Amino acid sequence: MSETVGQETRYDARALNALLAKMPAVERVIASAQAQPLIAIYGRTQVLAAIRATLDGWRRDAQAGTLIAPADAAAPFAPESVIDNAAKVLAARVQNRLRPVFNLTGTVLHTNLGRALLPDEAVRAVVQALAQPVNLEFNLATGKRGDRDDLIDDLICELTGAEAATVVNNNAAAVLLSLAALAPRKEVIVSRGELVEIGGAFRIPDIMGRAGARLREVGTTNRTHVSDYESAINKHTALLMKVHCSNYAITGFTKSVELDELVPLARANGLPVAVDLGSGTLIDLTQWGLPAEPTVRTTIDAGADLVTFSGDKLLGGPQAGLIVGRKALIAKIKKHPLKRALRVGKLTLAALEPVLKLYQAPEFLRERLTTLRLLTRPVAQMQESAMRALPVLQQALGDAYTVSVEPMFSQIGSGALPVDVLPGSALVVRHAGKVGSGRALMKLERALRALPRPVIGRIAEDALRLDMRCIEGANEVAFIAQLAELRL
Ligand SMILES: *Cc1c(COP(=O)(O)O)cnc(C)c1O
Repeated sequence: MSETVGQETRYDARALNALLAKMPAVERVIASAQAQPLIAIYGRTQVLAAIRATLDGWRRDAQAGTLIAPADAAAPFAPESVIDNAAKVLAARVQNRLRPVFNLTGTVLHTNLGRALLPDEAVRAVVQALAQPVNLEFNLATGKRGDRDDLIDDLICELTGAEAATVVNNNAAAVLLSLAALAPRKEVIVSRGELVEIGGAFRIPDIMGRAGARLREVGTTNRTHVSDYESAINKHTALLMKVHCSNYAITGFTKSVELDELVPLARANGLPVAVDLGSGTLIDLTQWGLPAEPTVRTTIDAGADLVTFSGDKLLGGPQAGLIVGRKALIAKIKKHPLKRALRVGKLTLAALEPVLKLYQAPEFLRERLTTLRLLTRPVAQMQESAMRALPVLQQALGDAYTVSVEPMFSQIGSGALPVDVLPGSALVVRHAGKVGSGRALMKLERALRALPRPVIGRIAEDALRLDMRCIEGANEVAFIAQLAELRL
C-alpha cells in the first residue's frame, strides 16, 4: 500500500520490504548509462561513494519507517532514481561551504558576513597575488631579502601622520602584540569605563592577561578623571591605554579623560599612551553625513604614541590589524616573536595597498571605496531598487504574504555607533493571516536562506525585512532573477 502526500509517496512496511528487495546492486547502478555522465564529471571514486550513500540512506530510512520516495519517479528504486539522488549528493559535495550570499540585513559591516566588501582594484590585486609570484619579502632594488611591512608602511604613515607602521592579522592581534611587546609583566592603566568586550572572545582584561601585562583599572564605569590615572602611576607602569568604546555608549553623568589631558600626564611621567581605536577611520566621515568617529590622524595629532585599528571595518579593506605610532615602539613590536605568528599573508597586503591608495584621492573616495559608497547610497536609489524587486517577490510568494516597500534605517555595523543612523529602503514582507504569522515568516526566512545564493534578511516587528542597501547593480539584477526560484 502506498499513500500520496503532496508531491511524495509514503510506503507502508510491507510495500517497503517489497521495494527494498528490488533495490539495485551498486555494480548495476555504476554500470548504467545514466551513471556515465556523472563519472565523467566527478570521477568513478566519488560517484561510487555517492551511490553507496544513497542506497545506505534509503535502507536506513526504510528501517526507521521514514523512507519517502519521489512520487513522480516511474520506479522509485530504479538505477535512474539512485543516480538522480547521487547527482544531488555530488552537487552538494562540490559546492564550497564558504560561498557568496546576499546581505539584506541592513548592517553594512556585518562581522558574520565577512565585513567590508572590497573595491575591484583590490580584488584584481588579490587574484594576481594568488596566481603569480610576488615580491612579498624581496627587495627589488637591492635583490636582497626584504620586509613585508616595507611594501605598505610609507603609505600608512602618509595617511595617518604616524612615524612608523606595521600590519598584523586583525585588530585583536594588534592589541595583543602591542601589549606583549610594550608591557611584559608591567602595568597598563585603563579606565573602568573602557574595559569593553567587542564580541566573540575579545575582552580587554582577558587580552591583557594573555599578553602577559597587568591590568590596572582606574575610575568607575561612568566617570574617570585624569587624577585617577595620575595616582595609579608607579614604577611598574608601562603604558596608559585608551580603548574606543566602539559598540556601546555611556550616557548621563559621565566623564572620560580625553587625550589632551592624558598625554601631558604621560609625558610628565615618561610613559607612552596607546589607543585602541577599533574602527580605523582615516578620513572625516561627517562630510558625507555619517556619524563622527575619531580618525587615526587626529588621534596621532593629539599625541597618542601608538594607535591600533582594524582593516575591515570603516577603513573598508581586508581583515587586518594596523599598528601605527612612534618609531621606537613600532621597532620593539616588530621584534617581538609574536609578530611572526600574527603577521599577514600576501593576500592581505595585496588587498590593503590598493584600498589605502584610494584615500590618496579623497575626491573620488565616496564613489570608489565600496564600504563608503554603500554607507552613503541615496535613499531614492535604494527605493527604486526595492520597487523593481517588489512585483517579482510578490509573485513568488503568492497571496499568503504581502510585500511593501518601506523606509528603514540601516546600521554601519562592526562596532561603529550601535544605533540606526542610515536612512534607507527595505522590502517588507508580512504574512496575510492573523495567526501563525511568526511561523510563516520563519519559513520564508529559511526559504530565502535555501536559495542557490542565500538571501539573509531579518525578522523584526512581525515582518521580514530585506534592506536593499548592500545590493547594487549586477547584484540587484541577480537578486531579483533568483526570486523566481523561491520555494515555500
Ligand atoms: C573591532 C574592535 C577590535 C577587534 O578588531 P578585529 O579586527 O575584529 O580583531 C578591538 N578593539 C576595538 C575597540 C574594536 O572596535
